[in-house]
Amino acid sequence: MADGFSQSVKQQADIVRIVGDYVRLSKAGAHSFKGLCPFHKEKSPSFNVQAAQQFFHCFGCGQSGDVFTFIQKMENVGFPEAVRMVAQKCGIPLPKREFSSPEEAESARLRGKLLELHEQAAQYFAEQLQSPEAARAREYLTGRGTTADAITAFNLGYAPDSFSTMRDRFQERFAPEVLRASGLFSAKEQAEGGSGALYARFRKRIMFPIRNEGGRTIAFTARALDSDEKSGPKYLNSPETPLYVKGQVLFNLDKAKAAIRQFEFALLVEGQMDCISVYMAGVTNVIATSGTAFTEAQVRLLARHTRQVVVNFDPDTAGANAAEKSIALLIEEGFSVKVVTLEGGLDPDRFVRERGVQAYIAELRAARRHSDYLIERARMLHPPVTADAKVKALNFLLPHMQHMPNRIARDEFAADAAQKLGIDSALLRQELKQAAGARRSTVRPAANVAPMVSEAEKLILRAMCHTGAAFAAATERHRREPWLFEGLATTDLMAALANRQPTDDPMMAAPDEQSRHLLAAALLAGPAEVSLGDLEQALASLRIRQMERRQRDLRRRLADAEARGDAETIRELMAEKLQLDRELRES
Ligand SMILES: [Zn+2]
Repeated sequence: MADGFSQSVKQQADIVRIVGDYVRLSKAGAHSFKGLCPFHKEKSPSFNVQAAQQFFHCFGCGQSGDVFTFIQKMENVGFPEAVRMVAQKCGIPLPKREFSSPEEAESARLRGKLLELHEQAAQYFAEQLQSPEAARAREYLTGRGTTADAITAFNLGYAPDSFSTMRDRFQERFAPEVLRASGLFSAKEQAEGGSGALYARFRKRIMFPIRNEGGRTIAFTARALDSDEKSGPKYLNSPETPLYVKGQVLFNLDKAKAAIRQFEFALLVEGQMDCISVYMAGVTNVIATSGTAFTEAQVRLLARHTRQVVVNFDPDTAGANAAEKSIALLIEEGFSVKVVTLEGGLDPDRFVRERGVQAYIAELRAARRHSDYLIERARMLHPPVTADAKVKALNFLLPHMQHMPNRIARDEFAADAAQKLGIDSALLRQELKQAAGARRSTVRPAANVAPMVSEAEKLILRAMCHTGAAFAAATERHRREPWLFEGLATTDLMAALANRQPTDDPMMAAPDEQSRHLLAAALLAGPAEVSLGDLEQALASLRIRQMERRQRDLRRRLADAEARGDAETIRELMAEKLQLDRELRES
């Protein structure tokens, strides 16, 4: 991709808005924003975005860079793809594509074709749902209370009971390798005596498009219409493709993310049907795991939008197990989790249809802390009437307590559990301590403490990031009076900045990670514009500090000379000291 184009995109893109699509940012200064780092696990924000200099920096894990670096890391794509994505987000028209390698060009081309194919396939399935053959599918949906609006909003469809109809339609428009890579078709392998010909993977099924966070269809979940053995599994998902990696998508996140941020929590349900009916009833911050167990990738995906979740899984055994696993994972990642168990053993879909959305919202409001839910589960699974049952109940709860990163919450959980299970709380604390000991040993040592940097140094660093008068003045001083900049935590960094080409990105010039931290801190500490007057003041204050340093040094050397009785050295040092004192008074 032409360098001029990426430069122009960078100038037009607002890093705060682009990052804000992934990270909840709050204002931290005139030009800076803070949020929880998407690249490492943390509970208090050390991830900063600076609007004036257009960079991000995390003081926790040290990741930093410009808007393209951010997208590259976030979306796991190369530089050209990142430029393209940022341009698209900003509505900047793309020039003719150029790629760094033929492989990259080929894989981008295939992804583009697969997106196109999925879009058309979703359209095809939606049309099929209106065909005479789909009468039973429509009946099923109506029976489950799925309205025409819901069908439109979620673009539900029907895959006809035919091996060839869909293939015949799509093989005119797409190359065989695209059809093969899409996961929408299977091949009768020649090795197995087949012809190698493609046939439709999904037949006689209701089709739920799975969309990525950007709202593009990347896969399907297909529900069988019949429950006989011949029909295969009740639910069938697309296989993994270049577009779709299992466990990395949350169903409905594209539609729900705005509401999740607005309400500051996400409602997590199990199935797509639950998600659809709850969403259509007006609870729009709902997402679904699509039946699979919640994965770490999904937790991280969600963490970009909120750290608060209300879990409402089906009350059956499978649902309870899935809920427990999801709770454990969310708690471990520092989420605050509440749990809803619906009255009468109803799943969210049926509850909303039978009792109405107001009753459902009341249930959400009354959601219990996850610890209360788990203690209740423990009591139900192992009624604590015998010592043996109490141990079992305790063993059910201990791993959950262990996973809690917050010590106070953990202690509270333990005290509650002891009381409700009738266990000696001292004994429980002992058990927990042992478990916590095992946990502590795996915790990484804290990041090293940043060295002290004065406000004057920070201002000089900001001036050095300029390309204008302040940059020229600061680098000129650096060349003329190098002693001013010696012996500081920022010495190497200042040298690197002063000696770079003024148009080079300052963050890229920082010689090491420590320097990048220092520079980011300096840029976040004040306005990007530095006046010559302010710069002079900072240099003057630095001069005084350096002279004081020399003074301390002189005093030490004087004391040494006196101890040795070295009269000549004493005289020389005294003269130097007098000169320095005079300079200090005058400055
Ligand atoms: Zn970080």
